[in-house]
Amino acid sequence: MTSRRTRERLVSRLREQGIANEAVLEVIRDTPRHIFIDEALSHRAYEDTALPIGFNQTISQPFIVARMTELLLEEGPCQRVLEVGTGSGYQTAILAVLATQVFSLERIRPLQEKARKRMNLLKLHNVQMRHSDGGMGWPAQAPFDGIMVTAAPESVPEDLLAQLAIGGRLVIPVGGSHGQELKRIRRIGDEQFETEVLQTVKFVPLVGGTVR
Ligand code: SAM
Repeated sequence: MTSRRTRERLVSRLREQGIANEAVLEVIRDTPRHIFIDEALSHRAYEDTALPIGFNQTISQPFIVARMTELLLEEGPCQRVLEVGTGSGYQTAILAVLATQVFSLERIRPLQEKARKRMNLLKLHNVQMRHSDGGMGWPAQAPFDGIMVTAAPESVPEDLLAQLAIGGRLVIPVGGSHGQELKRIRRIGDEQFETEVLQTVKFVPLVGGTVR
């Protein structure tokens, strides 16, 4: 079966699981997830599952990628999006099609370098990447209309809240290894935030510092 047909099957499954945003589904249908995975595992690329990408990290499950993207964009398009935890770059690529500019931070340099090559391969030139501890955000590029975090801190980093534009939203898993909650936090004023708790999730931890 061609990867286009397997992607269509994946999209049908996501639709059945409740993903309703057609723009998100279309980008998932058009994005070759197999190029974000080592060749030995690429036959599993269109399973709705997380897969290892080395360094004890994973490419996120397509359902979670779709759900978090849908949550970020529910109230309309985002111009400037910050992603914390580039990983393979799959989520980055999805965001790059749906937002005007994407800024993505990764603490493990070899992962970041591979992800950068994949952005070039897909001709996604609206992505800027940086090797840094994403818990501190990217102050020089703030404010952001959307921030998506794909690793879980124990509590919401203040720096990320401070870098949200008024009206901007942060989608973030929060909690330790015992259990995490997916939250969406909206900045509604200088010091005012509204938080929704959406579902339980399982992410790798957000870790401080960087790895060369
Ligand atoms: N969305 C990614 C994908 O689909 O490939 C998956 C991301 S993976 C679940 C989480 C990533 O967050 C890992 O690559 C990990 O190295 C990164 N990470 C963890 N803590 C970080 C931090 N403080 N700053 C930046 N990246 C971090």
